Amino acid sequence: VFQKKFGQNFLIDTHVLEKIIRAADITKDDFVLEIGPGIGTMTQYLAENARKVMAVEIDRNLIPILEDTLAGYDNVTVVNEDVLKLDLPELVQKENAGKPVKVVANLPYYITTPIIMGIFESHMPLHSLTIMVQKEVADRMQAGPGSKDYGALSLAVQYYAKPYIAANVPPNCFMPRPNVGSAVIRLTKHEQPPVEAADEKLLFGMIRASFNQRRKTLANGLNNSQELGYSKEQIEAAIKKAGFPPAVRGEALTLKQFAQLSNILKEMAIG
Ligand code: SAM
Repeated sequence: VFQKKFGQNFLIDTHVLEKIIRAADITKDDFVLEIGPGIGTMTQYLAENARKVMAVEIDRNLIPILEDTLAGYDNVTVVNEDVLKLDLPELVQKENAGKPVKVVANLPYYITTPIIMGIFESHMPLHSLTIMVQKEVADRMQAGPGSKDYGALSLAVQYYAKPYIAANVPPNCFMPRPNVGSAVIRLTKHEQPPVEAADEKLLFGMIRASFNQRRKTLANGLNNSQELGYSKEQIEAAIKKAGFPPAVRGEALTLKQFAQLSNILKEMAIG
């Protein structure tokens, strides 16, 4: 019995499992955090290849099956929790020996973005996320300015990591079949953010506000945001100071340009 509410689509294609393990580049040195192990199909592969695996599964009905599947491995810990409610830095701290963690998961699609952003923002020691997501979401994460898929998710993900789509995966590789195509994407964490933003909260707030209202100018998008709290005059002056055309749209700006604009606005607030 599959729990639709938990986004349960189990992988049944071993070629895809192998692709994920290869894309994640798991070695015997690695500590792996798996989110949503389900019945443990991928967990076994991870256990074979990694030093240690911690698998977080929300559905308590799956725990006995999972424990049964994994009975032969002494390097796996199963945690029966909602990953969104866990203090991940604390959880991994005891086990990862200070080394950056590799996250591997066939994610529940209904909470893809909160899981990914939660991991990045938790600032846990992280090497990479190699995850199965909806194809459309993978395209959005990887998109650059000018592409129809470019938006707040592209910018947020690319601030933290370098995306690489390792495989496209059709619905028939899962049981039950999902209604959408899937892709394996690897997000390799940057050692340093690729741009300098004096105020990350402001940068992210600006990005959200700019894409909240597509087809509007950047100035309008930023001006309509309660969260940012800048006046129309300040916003227009900042856009001018950055050297962008007055009617520029958010879709046209790179991450670097967003960061530049956020730094100008920040200075105005101080000055
Ligand atoms: N990894 C398995 C596989 O590849 O066959 C199952 C993947 S299935 C798409 C997603 C899994 O995540 C399910 O087992 C589901 O119960 C679990 N899950 C859903 N929401 C969760 C949450 N908030 N925290 C932890 N696990 C969750």
